[in-house]
Amino acid sequence: MRQQYPADMSQDVAVVWDDRFVRYNFGPQHPINPLRLDLTMRLAREFGLFDQGNVRVVEPPLADDPLLQLIHQPDYIEAVRRAGADPSRAQPRYGLGSDDNPCFAGMHEASARVAGGSVDGAERIWRGESDHAINIAGGLHHAMADHASGFCIYNDPAIAIARLLELGAQRVAYVDIDVHHGDGVQAAFWNDPRVLTISMHESGKSLFPGTGFEFETGGPDAPGSAINLPLTAGTSDEAWLAAFTSTVPAAVTDFAPDVLVTQHGCDAHFLDPLSDLMVSIDAMRSAYQQLHALAHSAAAGRWLVTGGGGYDIVDVVPRAWTALLAEVAGHPIDPETQLPPGWLDYVEKTYGRVPPARMTDLPPR
Ligand SMILES: [Zn+2]
Ligand SMILES: [Zn+2]
Repeated sequence: MRQQYPADMSQDVAVVWDDRFVRYNFGPQHPINPLRLDLTMRLAREFGLFDQGNVRVVEPPLADDPLLQLIHQPDYIEAVRRAGADPSRAQPRYGLGSDDNPCFAGMHEASARVAGGSVDGAERIWRGESDHAINIAGGLHHAMADHASGFCIYNDPAIAIARLLELGAQRVAYVDIDVHHGDGVQAAFWNDPRVLTISMHESGKSLFPGTGFEFETGGPDAPGSAINLPLTAGTSDEAWLAAFTSTVPAAVTDFAPDVLVTQHGCDAHFLDPLSDLMVSIDAMRSAYQQLHALAHSAAAGRWLVTGGGGYDIVDVVPRAWTALLAEVAGHPIDPETQLPPGWLDYVEKTYGRVPPARMTDLPPR
């Protein structure tokens, strides 16, 4: 049953967006095609989500070096700058120039813009200007202090959490439902009892990055500050939601965070080409609802939301993240709703593909 949150319709929600987010682009052959962001924003706009009185679309500043250095080493940031200035030079020591993380022109600015988006959302929440904030370009959870990893250059969720701590937050909870282990965020706060990281993902036995096992529970000064829920390949809705529901709400409630930060990679979907879980958009929507309720019940409504992975850019990502934007905005879309004809036409003309006609993955009633 749907939980109620008091007066949610009137709460202020910031959608952090800049058309330049699509410059985070490793090239046409790379799975993380930024058009997934463009298609999501087009779909959400067709649904009128940004015309709601409580929703503001805000343009973020670039993250500057002191912000990036909350998580990343100065020499790594310089290496990203060099990579953006001369993409022909691989820097294997920093994970730059590999198949996963090819160098591209303007790499530093594009990555710092995404990080700036999540930081901007965090700062708005901390100042009390917004109750919730969402950056669908964010969620780049694999980036490490001193190297790029798994399509991620700067770890925007970790930087946003570090910024919240710098501003005075005592406790931050991070929940990651991307199909891949949120290893970079876990590593950043491994030994920090102020940050609880929870990641639910396909087991590292079968999927990148090969970590995220149950025995990874936090460093010596922060026992119990990491929770991992590895799932076997083939896990579908019921077991995925059961793992989530039996663990996440109680753990976050017990931790009593000042802010809840969530990562919503939609690559656990059964159509996703890079992974082996069998999760539907409908199960993901249920997780979104539970996280929303949890933000209100456990974190006084302070909720920072990011995107993440998601590699079926036509059939999955736009519907999943439009449902997410709608949930965060407090204007959820009925799963039976048909997709707007204008969006369907655009997709067919642009991509020569006919996407699913409805928001749900369930068969017609
Ligand atoms: Zn709310
Ligand atoms: Zn992922």
